[in-house]
Amino acid sequence: MKKTALIILLALLPCAMLRAQDSTYARHIIKTLASKKMYGRGFCHHGDSIAAHFLASEMQRIGLLPLQINYMQYYTLDCYSFNGPVSLSINGTQLEPFTQFRILPASHLTRSNKLSEAKWSKQLKDGTWLIGQPQLDTYSPIVGPQKDNPYFIEVIDTLISKKPRKIKADIPIVFHKDYRTQNVMGYVRGVIDSMIVFTAHYDHCGTMGESIIFCGAHDNASGVAAVMDIARIAASKKPYYTMVFMLFSGEESGLLGSHYAAENSPIDFNKVKLLCNIDMFCGGDEGLMVFNAKSQNTKPFFDQLKTLNDETHAALEIRPRDNRPNSDHYWFSNYCPSIFLLTMGGPYGGYHDPYDTCKSCGLNHYNAFLRLILSLAKLD
Ligand SMILES: [Zn+2]
Repeated sequence: MKKTALIILLALLPCAMLRAQDSTYARHIIKTLASKKMYGRGFCHHGDSIAAHFLASEMQRIGLLPLQINYMQYYTLDCYSFNGPVSLSINGTQLEPFTQFRILPASHLTRSNKLSEAKWSKQLKDGTWLIGQPQLDTYSPIVGPQKDNPYFIEVIDTLISKKPRKIKADIPIVFHKDYRTQNVMGYVRGVIDSMIVFTAHYDHCGTMGESIIFCGAHDNASGVAAVMDIARIAASKKPYYTMVFMLFSGEESGLLGSHYAAENSPIDFNKVKLLCNIDMFCGGDEGLMVFNAKSQNTKPFFDQLKTLNDETHAALEIRPRDNRPNSDHYWFSNYCPSIFLLTMGGPYGGYHDPYDTCKSCGLNHYNAFLRLILSLAKLD
């Protein structure tokens, strides 16, 4: 390529990045958040903080004002992290992490259920329960409210031909009391004070040992990408509503970041016209699902979304659902109209597994869905 052509191309690149309703920027955010250097945005290697600093600097770069000092709202939680590789061998056979065994957080509920359902179980010296299951459970990050709660290692029982006798487990887990994590928040001042708030969780399941990284492209780098894209568009013009953007950690540990934000809010909920949470935004071949669509204070927004969709055919279907504590909108629904959007159908890589990667994250419906949201927020 000629040098002048290259210079023109490089000069045009920021314009392309700034073009409204283009998935280039969203893909860039997903790729960065789902990369190995973010360690699955969990507590191991401080993946959550690495992601938060990236997002805060991105908020500053695109022109958002900080809602808290340096865009950060700090809080603490208790959690576990793995320090180093994990390995498990039973009866002399070395097992593969994730596909053949999984380490799950302990709680009183899982402890009683798992032990009664397990085909066999054995407690190791350090209190860990090893349990045999026909099928391994969905992975969740290692978070426990109590230091002395033993954790579980699930093993596919068909791998063990006879009762497990020789067990060699090397699973270095460290408990962190009051681990400091953070929400990331910015805003754009609008023509009026009335606010539209966009939220998404940026944390994911971290790592399991050295070899397994949960990249979390669909869950929820994609939702963060959509929120950051809306923020970028809002910052490039004077929006009608004041636009607030909140990105939470601690979702995978039980909606902890959003709970803290709702109880320690830097904004006046009386001024919030709508809060829209986006969690898992790749794919969408079957349309969009809207949780808390039927409440008195949210139904008008759902109806508006449906009318917009009838005109544009952006989504195959927009399905209303009741309110549930299944994502970060939940705590805010006590204070202001709050909905939660997620896509239905693929393509995406997986759920809480190492296959949820950027490469598998389909954005074929992204622009159409984003246009719907932008018109709801008067940003079109
Ligand atoms: Zn999740």
